[in-house]
Amino acid sequence: MFEKVLIANRGEIALRLHRACREMGIRTVAVHSTADTDAMHVRLADESVCIGPPPAMESYLNMPSILAAAEITGSEGIHPGYGFLSENADFANIVEEHGYTFIGPSAEHIRTMGDKITAKQTVRELGIPVVPGSDGAVNDADEARALADDIGYPVLIKAASGGGGRGMKLVRQAAEFETALAAAKTESKAAFNDDAVYIEKYLERPRHIEVQVIGDGTGKVVHLGERDCSLQRNNQKVLEEAPSPALNDAARKKIGQTVVDALSRINYTSLGTVEFLYEDGEFYFIEMNTRLQVEHPITEAITGIDLVREQIRIAAGAPLSFSQEDIRFSGHAIECRVNAEHPTTFVPSPGIVGDFHAPGGLGVRVDSALYAGYRIPPNYDSLIAKLVVHGSNRNDCLMRLNRALGEFVVGGIEVNIPLHEQMIQQQDFIDGDYHIHWLEEFLGRHN
Ligand code: ADP
Repeated sequence: MFEKVLIANRGEIALRLHRACREMGIRTVAVHSTADTDAMHVRLADESVCIGPPPAMESYLNMPSILAAAEITGSEGIHPGYGFLSENADFANIVEEHGYTFIGPSAEHIRTMGDKITAKQTVRELGIPVVPGSDGAVNDADEARALADDIGYPVLIKAASGGGGRGMKLVRQAAEFETALAAAKTESKAAFNDDAVYIEKYLERPRHIEVQVIGDGTGKVVHLGERDCSLQRNNQKVLEEAPSPALNDAARKKIGQTVVDALSRINYTSLGTVEFLYEDGEFYFIEMNTRLQVEHPITEAITGIDLVREQIRIAAGAPLSFSQEDIRFSGHAIECRVNAEHPTTFVPSPGIVGDFHAPGGLGVRVDSALYAGYRIPPNYDSLIAKLVVHGSNRNDCLMRLNRALGEFVVGGIEVNIPLHEQMIQQQDFIDGDYHIHWLEEFLGRHN
């Protein structure tokens, strides 16, 4: 096992990683920008190294500084968390070339899944269902238009290197196609320095359902059920739940097995999430995330498994400590992402935190790096806390969530807690009857 791990991240996830290491008897090294000198992850870690100024490009994305920090502290493993360098195949490679262990999947798997066209082709060959669309990148405008006619409108033009919902263009009719294609290419080139785009059938009201997997590099891959992340705004997840209210046991087992079969064939190692759109009983692959995800705690809640501990064990060369038959799903869990932003205008609200009180009690977990008096820097993501509630069933979970949201106090700044309180009281949500556009339609009606 590692003696010392460097945590190449900040905020709540840096704390989450630190906690797993501490429980395993591993010493931790925090890295931080000059904006994060007083951050909780720095205070809790055994050692810390300042790696640069506030802009992420010069600190949390600065590979030479991070490697230098690993060297001077004698770290053995480097955990990238999510975001920042977590899905950067070059970083995974460089870490390994310098003799450290990258706590995550192989650089090869990160690279394959990082390009959406290659990812789609790869998983289709492995037997995972994909959204109907072009076989690869489309270049010639006439050819692309003929293809779109074949697929049938509406279609979505997507960037091969896309992420965070950027570089997507919805085309409702043939007359708009050519302009949209040109715009998608230009935008994609500007945002990702890659103008490769592809076409997909646009699904009108799907759910976003993702399957959590873990593999140990010996071909053994286990799935840990699904998460329903359909409640989104600007393609950003806002609230997630596990299991999905839309799946029964048979459907869950079937998609889980399909994913496991596929990923064992490529000997997938570490944590991964395969994301699908789900409509009319059918799953359609959209992408695979080769990293730990923000919403992993709801899976931990219903399985009782510490995903980060398993991930670290596997990176250290240990085999998976459980098999598929050992996984038992228990009850229901929901995560609310608490953001430092205005609850109706969504304008970010960094600043000094006044009062801070995190809810507690049975089945309530709060992952957050906040404390009273902490100054939230304006340079990073607005996610400041995750409220994760577990109940014996969905109804129990909803009652507990309502109670926990009512206890949550974050003073001095604007937070989106009122939005969560409002959302979970809507009949559609109570009925589990929602899709990926539900939240935006709801906001359109109420703002
Ligand atoms: P990104 O990597 O940019 O987040 P994804 O492929 O994961 O892109 O898609 C992000 C979101 O866009 C999905 O969660 C879904 O809301 C929407 N989306 C993607 N593909 C389709 C599609 N074929 N039909 C309808 N909506 C889609």
